[in-house]
Amino acid sequence: MRKPVIAANWKMHKRLDSSVEDALRLKALVGNPTHCEVVIAPTFVHLKSVIDRLEGSSILVSAQNVAESAEDGAFTGEVSAKMLRDIGCRIAIVGHSERRQLFGEGDASINRKVVSLLKEGMTAILCIGETLSEREKGRHLDVVGSQLDACLTGLTSSESARIILAYEPVWAIGTGVTASPRQAQEMHSSIRSKVTQIFGLGASESIRILYGGSVKPDNIAELMGQEDIDGALVGGASLEAESFARIVDYSR
Ligand code: PEP
Repeated sequence: MRKPVIAANWKMHKRLDSSVEDALRLKALVGNPTHCEVVIAPTFVHLKSVIDRLEGSSILVSAQNVAESAEDGAFTGEVSAKMLRDIGCRIAIVGHSERRQLFGEGDASINRKVVSLLKEGMTAILCIGETLSEREKGRHLDVVGSQLDACLTGLTSSESARIILAYEPVWAIGTGVTASPRQAQEMHSSIRSKVTQIFGLGASESIRILYGGSVKPDNIAELMGQEDIDGALVGGASLEAESFARIVDYSR
């Protein structure tokens, strides 16, 4: 039985006080849910304050990125997995389409980030997804399959237990256009088959595959009703605690 994950990506939003206030409001609203794991990803510089204030809560606090290098070094502006661990952060998003499109990150770099997180015993939320033109050309399943091959290179089946996949069609992120439950399920099922090829059946049956792309309180239930959708990565609708709490409460 896969425990769903509902994750909030706050991107480069909120000042320090509102990150902390919204985290505390969310904690009050969702309590310690047992039906799913709840993750919030504030910006790097707010992580420690949010982690400290959420002590004792089951809400997990994630970074939005991590350095490729597992070792300290001359990498100005980077934050390593070790540094995240130092402040009690155990999870990070990697390969978000905004990182790929705006900051030129490619699959090889994303693979190094996943490796670096796993080496530190952390969990990676690995984002994959096709662009609109790739979908229109009918290449979406192949594109996402290749991203998985490249981003998961060199990893073992047992390491896959600390990987959460997030399928985020680029055309659905921040656009208000959601993949239909049928489109999302088709892709999630294809991703699970690919994971079977790479890591074997045991790993593919237990890996969580989240959907991301204009998830809202009013479409989460239908998406979660799909066999291979194990949660959501939420951008815009996670910025208000009440709205995100309604997404977390999808099953109630
Ligand atoms: C995201 O950025 O990961 C995302 C899914 O954004 P939104 O929910 O706003 O589409």
